[in-house]
Amino acid sequence: MPTSSRLLQPPTVLPAIGKHRAKALETVGIRTIRDLLYYVPRRYLDRSTIVPMTDLHRCLNQNVTCIGRVSGMLLMGRTRLRLVVTLRDEHGSMDIVFFHGLPYWKEAFSHDEVIAVSGTITQYGRRPNMVHPEIDRLQDEESFEFINTGGIIPVYPSSAELERVGLNRRAGFRRIIREALNRFAEAVEDPLESHSPDGIRARHALVPLRTAITHIHRPPSHEALTDARRRLVFDEFFALALRQALRKRHTESTPGIAFQPSSPTARALVERLPFTLTRAQRKVLHEIISDLARSAPMNRLLQGDVGSGKTVVALLAMLLVVDNGYQAAMMVPTEILAEQHMRTVVKLTEGLGVPVHLLVGQQPPSYRARVMEALAAGIPCIVIGTHALIESGVVFGRLGLAVIDEQHRFGVLQRAALRRKGPAPDVLVMTATPIPRTLTMTLYGDLDVSVIDELPANRRNITTAVRFEEDRPRVWNFIRSEVKRGNRAYIVLPLVSESEKLDLKAATQEYEMLAAGEFRDLRVGLLHGQMPSREKDETMERFVRGEIDILVTTSVVEVGVDVPDATVMVIEHAERFGLAQLHQLRGRVGRSEKQGYCILMTDKRIFSRGKSTPDEQIECRAARLRLETIRDTLDGFRIAEADFTIRGPGDLWGTQQSGFPQFRVADLRLHGDILREARDEAFRIVARDPHLRAPEHAGLRELTVETFREDMEISTTA
Ligand code: ADP
Ligand code: MG
Repeated sequence: MPTSSRLLQPPTVLPAIGKHRAKALETVGIRTIRDLLYYVPRRYLDRSTIVPMTDLHRCLNQNVTCIGRVSGMLLMGRTRLRLVVTLRDEHGSMDIVFFHGLPYWKEAFSHDEVIAVSGTITQYGRRPNMVHPEIDRLQDEESFEFINTGGIIPVYPSSAELERVGLNRRAGFRRIIREALNRFAEAVEDPLESHSPDGIRARHALVPLRTAITHIHRPPSHEALTDARRRLVFDEFFALALRQALRKRHTESTPGIAFQPSSPTARALVERLPFTLTRAQRKVLHEIISDLARSAPMNRLLQGDVGSGKTVVALLAMLLVVDNGYQAAMMVPTEILAEQHMRTVVKLTEGLGVPVHLLVGQQPPSYRARVMEALAAGIPCIVIGTHALIESGVVFGRLGLAVIDEQHRFGVLQRAALRRKGPAPDVLVMTATPIPRTLTMTLYGDLDVSVIDELPANRRNITTAVRFEEDRPRVWNFIRSEVKRGNRAYIVLPLVSESEKLDLKAATQEYEMLAAGEFRDLRVGLLHGQMPSREKDETMERFVRGEIDILVTTSVVEVGVDVPDATVMVIEHAERFGLAQLHQLRGRVGRSEKQGYCILMTDKRIFSRGKSTPDEQIECRAARLRLETIRDTLDGFRIAEADFTIRGPGDLWGTQQSGFPQFRVADLRLHGDILREARDEAFRIVARDPHLRAPEHAGLRELTVETFREDMEISTTA
């Protein structure tokens, strides 16, 4: 058997693993020996990171690990029962506290048992405390030995399933990993192994793969562990970047359309715009036009904060394409947005002789049939639409440019589907959710990126404030005074439930209450996702025209809607929204020379330390952080960075649909430098050897297919 395929055997080749354990391992994604070797510890315990209990008062609010013997246990509290377990080491003592699962925890410890606890140190009375810490039992001899000899103990991620079959975080897992290493470590081949002294490994000071895998599980020292981790992180980024480089190369070598860069219609539009383009808009337009002029298909991401003026840039590109005798399609996530773009584009292109069509889910069949006919006939035009554009019945005779607006709201497949409506159209994806640079490289590593990093000069700042229920009368008065000055307001309600019906009810109730009560002398409107699109459209139109003063809405208004006279946005239960969403929502106001206001209504309890459960406390802290971030900064990129540090990449907007790679070892928040290093290397190699045919690159080909599973195949296809 060749060495690498030995690693692809199922874990059951290990004596310690039978059918049941194999099943349990599968639940955490371990199907092969290789998966097992790459199942890296979540953290490590060792003497040097353990804090003696006498020092705990210096570690308040820090995350630490302590080791002690269980010396007491007490149920306390009248209204809210909690279990307090006292631990002792040679020097002092501390308490660990449980609020949930008391029946379990009451029985979980025996007197004098030695445990390691990891968590945040808080203070209760004068005693150091840890609430619901992570617990590792150190009863087995080996753990003692490890700790006492200064060794480092790996702790593995665990799950109920694994525990059930005796594969607990530490001892159980350590045993099977040891077995796997003993029998299979020598079968690990290094794809970066090279016989030349200036090979990749040498260039980046990487340890051999076999060493890295062995040391990540059994680190002989901290330095060895750092080296091992660095190597595995590099590999993950490198494999991803190689795939992106290859894909980019592939796109670029497909013959596409080389458009004539001069466009009388686009020029005419620039001349009649009521504003001059910003420097940043001109810069990205230039980048886009030079892409369009090349015969290789464009594959570009246009990033720009809300209100930075992406639409007009896209429109100019579309006009250029139409002037060349091709069709340009723009896909947006909602009908409201499609209709708004339609209005904008129709108004701006009036008299220029460019046909503009709308294609959405709900429209008269005869209109729809006419649009589809024109598209199939290949008549040069602009078409704006929703997912309706990618339905199988929609055929483009001459698609030259596909624009995807607010791309994070689309799945990977939907974006790919629009691209496939033509043989090799140019593709421009636009996003108003700025994301950190490292994330851009990971998610869109095979795209070229343009950034509009400047807002039009006439934008005033938006004032953002956090307000509580007791401020309600002032908030309502403020809305009233703005309306008196001819401005308009949004009142945004969060989605309150999984059920659309209930949300609808909540929004309707709020609307009725305000329309018949507080604001009965003003014109109040209601907008929500479940309204028929004609009605939505009508309401929106009336709001734009100023026939509605206050629009009560669910978050359907979030994406891209543009009403210059809307100056106030009140967001109810702002704590329930994510940062990106809050930023997007706020972008709806302050879109003209008028000063905008965003008022975040929330529960005062979020800002006070009431008696609440630890889970609630954690949630409150996160909510507070989100609201403060939004209040204190307008810069979308900084907000994105904050969101990234609060939640990590896994939870970021849209990363799920985008097929965000699940790294095993790498953490984008920590390893940005390694990412850049690996990426530069990968692109350099592919530039020199586009098909990885050189003998010294044989291992790399394998790396690109092995490290990620099939679902990665499409992940960066915009
Ligand atoms: P977004 O980038 O969020 O999609 P839009 O394209 O909707 O932003 O532009 C927001 C508003 O700014 C629109 O009303 C648009 O007409 C206007 N706008 C675009 N470019 C400029 C500019 N250079 N100067 C002034 N206003 C502009
Ligand atoms: Mg937009």
